[in-house]
Formats: sequence, C-alpha cells, structure tokens
Amino acid sequence: MVKLADNKISTQCDVLIIGGGPAGSCAAIELAQSGVHVVLLERAVFPRNQVGESLIPHFWKFADALGVSEKIQQQGFIAKAGGITLWNDRVRQISFAKYGYQRPGLHVERDIFDDLLLTHAQDCGAQVFCQVVVKKVDFSDPDFPVVYYFDKRNDENYQSSIHCQYLIDASGHNTFLANSFKTRRLINPKLNFLSLWGYFKNSRYVGVDRKSHAAHEITLIKPVTFVTSYRSGWLWHIILRGKTSVGLIIPAEQFRSVEPEQRERYFKHACEEIPSIARLLSSAKFIEGSLQFRPNYSYYCENICGENYYCIGDAAAFADPIFSHGIQNAFYNAAVSCMAIKASLKHKKNRLRYSQLCETRMQQFYGFSRALALGDYGVHGVNRDLVKTMIKTLSPIEIELIRVASEMTNRSDNFRQLACEAGVWNDDFSSYEDDDFLAL
Ligand SMILES: Cc1cc2nc3c(=O)[nH]c(=O)nc-3n(C[C@H](O)[C@H](O)[C@H](O)COP(=O)(O)OP(=O)(O)OC[C@H]3O[C@@H](n4cnc5c(N)ncnc54)[C@H](O)[C@@H]3O)c2cc1C
Repeated sequence: MVKLADNKISTQCDVLIIGGGPAGSCAAIELAQSGVHVVLLERAVFPRNQVGESLIPHFWKFADALGVSEKIQQQGFIAKAGGITLWNDRVRQISFAKYGYQRPGLHVERDIFDDLLLTHAQDCGAQVFCQVVVKKVDFSDPDFPVVYYFDKRNDENYQSSIHCQYLIDASGHNTFLANSFKTRRLINPKLNFLSLWGYFKNSRYVGVDRKSHAAHEITLIKPVTFVTSYRSGWLWHIILRGKTSVGLIIPAEQFRSVEPEQRERYFKHACEEIPSIARLLSSAKFIEGSLQFRPNYSYYCENICGENYYCIGDAAAFADPIFSHGIQNAFYNAAVSCMAIKASLKHKKNRLRYSQLCETRMQQFYGFSRALALGDYGVHGVNRDLVKTMIKTLSPIEIELIRVASEMTNRSDNFRQLACEAGVWNDDFSSYEDDDFLAL
C-alpha cells in the first residue's frame, strides 16, 4: 500500500507530477529509476476507486520496462483470454493468443492495481504525497514553473508551493492544465458519450468457450470481457474477484431527460432489457450504492506538450473506452514524455524540440485510438496524416488484430479508410471463422 508520507514537501524538484493514477505513477517510476528528483502530488487517499478494469495484453511490455510485471503477476488478478461481443445480434470473438500474445489480458480491481503502481513508484524513490491538491501553476518563469497546492494531510489545509523544471499533468479527466490553458475540446455532442456503471455480487461470467459459467469455475474456464450493443451504445460485463463490473455507455444526448434520482432505475432496467446480461445476472445481487456516473467524457486537448510541461493519460484526451485503450495510453504517454523530459534535462537548449516530437507521438496515438473508438462517427479532431504514418509502422499481425477488433462492433469505417489510404489494407485478410453460437 502507498505509504502515507508525513514529512514536508520539498520546495523544489526536477519534475512535479499532478496525479497518481497509472499515467502519473508510471512517469514517476521511470523518472525515479533514472535518478531524477520527482515529486508526485495526489489529491485522493490511496487506494481510491477508479473505473476501467479491462486491460489488453499490450500493457505488459511497458510493465516489464518499469520492472513492475512480477508484482502485478503476484497480485493474482483474473487473467482473461480475449473478448466476445454480441453486437446487433452478431457474435464475434478475439483470442489474444492467436495474435502472438504470450501473456493474457487482465481484469483488475483498479483501486488495487493503481495502488500497486503508485507504491512501486515510492519504492523506486519517487516522493509521493497523497491528500495534496494542486490548485494553480504559474509559468511566468519558464525555467522554474511554480505549482501551488493545498496540503490536506492535516486539518489546517496548509497552502504552499513548489518550484520544478518540468511539470507532468496526469490529473485524469480533471484535465488540470488544459482547463487552465482553455485547450480542452469536447467532441461534437453527437459523438459524446457518458457512462453509468455499478457492481454485482454472484454474477455468472462469459467463458472463452462462449458459454456462461458460475464464478467458481473461473480457474477451469478462462473468462473474456463481454460487450454487447445496446440501443446506440453498448454495455460491458467484466468479472472481477468477488464482484462483477457492469457498465452502460450511451450517447449523452439520449440521457438528457434522465434525472439523477432515476439513474439507478434506468441502469437496472437496461440490464434487465438485454437478454444476455439479464441471464448472466439472473441470480446476482446489485451492490447497493455502487452506481457511478461519468458525464460528457469524450474530449481531446490541444497543445498537450510544451517546453516545460506534458499532459499525459486522460489529462490529454479520452474517448469511448470500447477497445480498452485507456491504460495502454497512460503507459505509452508516460514512456514517451519521460524520454523527452530526460533528454531535456540533459540538453536544455533542445527542450522545445523534444516536446514537439513528444506531442506528435502522443497526438498520433490518441488520434488512432479516437478514430478507432468512434469508428462509425468519422474522425473528429483527428490528424489523419499522423494516424496514417503510425498505421504504416504496425506489423501485419497488429494490423490484422486491429481490423478484427474494429469489426467486432460496427465501428470499422475509420480504420478501413485510414488503412486503405496508408496502403496497408489487404483484402486477403483472413476473415472470421464464425458461427453465431453463444450459450449464455
Ligand atoms: C466508463 C469508463 C470505462 C473505462 N474502461 C476502461 C477499460 O476497460 N480499460 C482501460 O484500459 N481503460 C478504461 N477506461 C479509461 C481508464 O480508466 C483511464 O484511461 C485511466 O484511468 C487513465 O489513467 P490516468 O492516470 O490518466 O488518470 P486517473 O486514473 O483518472 O488518475 C488521475 C489522478 O489524478 C488525481 N488528481 C486529479 N486532479 C488533481 C489535482 N488537482 N491535484 C492532485 N491530484 C489530482 C486524481 O485523484 C486521480 O487519482 C475507462 C474509462 C471510463 C470513463
């Protein structure tokens, strides 16, 4: 568990990080391991709740580089074999092993997973302070930005500041810097989604054999993440240890008339209305008080990197989580921003150039992720040329995997168009060997 630091926060450091979610923790680990003096300020007490429990196996290569894979394995999170979608009555399945992944995806309780990463950051030498809320940043001296914070560890609500050379904003959907720069853009309202999610005890789960199983069979039959379309949105079903996460994603427009006190009824009604979900939950019990709501969450930010700051993870962008890219983005952004910061600490005169390179990389990745997630809605706010360049660098098996993933839903249009324009679309791609068997 994250150790609660009771010492004073230094008045200066090399890199100050706002937020201790996966993006902030991974950046702190990388920098601390390289001997950089890094201070991380997190407003919550860890472990704290977070949504986003499905991890695709791509994250392992970053976890290996950060030296945290063994700790993740020892935690005993549920290993998943892939995903199954039931989209407009059509069944589709992906198995990670078929695409060369030696290690599984995971279903993680995010309070535990995020706490593990932040504790690892502390173990690596990062100075982590929870219950400290960043309030303002002053960039008037570009060499030493000043970060103002409220230290809430004691009742006094002590106010102070810290000077740093570089600032990483990993404040998640709070988008701390983009809000102060006014560079946060909401995606066109027609493409904007919201989510309602909650937890059930004793749900059955969907196995890799496309059948439904009682929770105690999890060691015998590997689970998959199950996703089903629902009206103009979709719903996830993710089995965890001791509970199951179920979440509804719907276009924000369709939810406008639902009052806050009607949310739980709306959510439960949707779960009952979808036959596959209703059957999985037939003897499950809703955990009272577990319903949560995230409105208007599809956004992106401009100017996410500058000569002395970097916005990473959800602090830079977020779109519909259909392909579970959130954690992967957080790990990737942490890696590239730290590369740029470490180079800048060595060769300060080049720091603007490094930040521009980093911005290009991150916008490319977010653009790709957004184009894929909002596949049937066009590529709003996406730099097509950047994304095409990235697609060209992917190996044939990765392209095949993304194509298949995009066809699991009806969101393949953008990917097909961009891949065709990039000259990597191949009509000979093997297609699904599918029967529509699903016994839930
Ligand atoms: C409905 C939904 C479902 C999702 N499902 C998945 C999924 O299945 N798989 C997946 O990979 N991703 C999923 N995601 C996305 C995933 O949860 C995020 O991408 C991930 O949490 C991003 O990590 P982060 O570190 O950027 O932000 P966060 O995890 O949000 O961490 C940010 C931290 O910053 C702290 N903070 C904020 N402001 C301040 C401040 N002013 N001062 C100090 N600290 C501050 C917060 O307390 C928080 O701990 C989902 C997201 C949503 C909304």
